Amino acid sequence: MSEPRAMPQVQKKTYMGFSDGVGHDRIAVRTENPDGTFVTQPLTHYAKHSSEFSWSYAGSGPACTAFCILADFLQLVPLTKRAGMYGKGEIPEIACIYQDFKFDFIAPLPMGPNWEITSAQIAKWLLVHPLQTVCPNCRADFDPTLGEPCWWCLPDPNEGE
Ligand SMILES: [Zn+2]
Repeated sequence: MSEPRAMPQVQKKTYMGFSDGVGHDRIAVRTENPDGTFVTQPLTHYAKHSSEFSWSYAGSGPACTAFCILADFLQLVPLTKRAGMYGKGEIPEIACIYQDFKFDFIAPLPMGPNWEITSAQIAKWLLVHPLQTVCPNCRADFDPTLGEPCWWCLPDPNEGE
């Protein structure tokens, strides 16, 4: 029997959405320090689908919100150059789950009132939505039963011809 994939040790965080009613939706991340104090910062925005965060429906702004919350929670940054089949801005580890996260968490959020999603809620959800296994070298997704590194990272036998 295989052990469940261990989740990275994460800080206690709360993601907080604020809507000003005229289409400028903002998200802050409140991180709890070990001494009980808090640091609040804007959520890092990666323009994966949209130039703005949004919620309350299942579109591109909410996809961006889902992507960026999971990226922050898991401390993963998008690939910046093309690796294998992945384009710029992809996070292969969450590529197969962030749309599900959008449907489960972001689309149902209320449009007007402020909202909060906690790191505990996300950690619990990730137990049944495991991350994709990625190559330790290039982060492309691959089947680890075929051995490491991934196909893309194998030495090229034609090199030097
Ligand atoms: Zn690789």
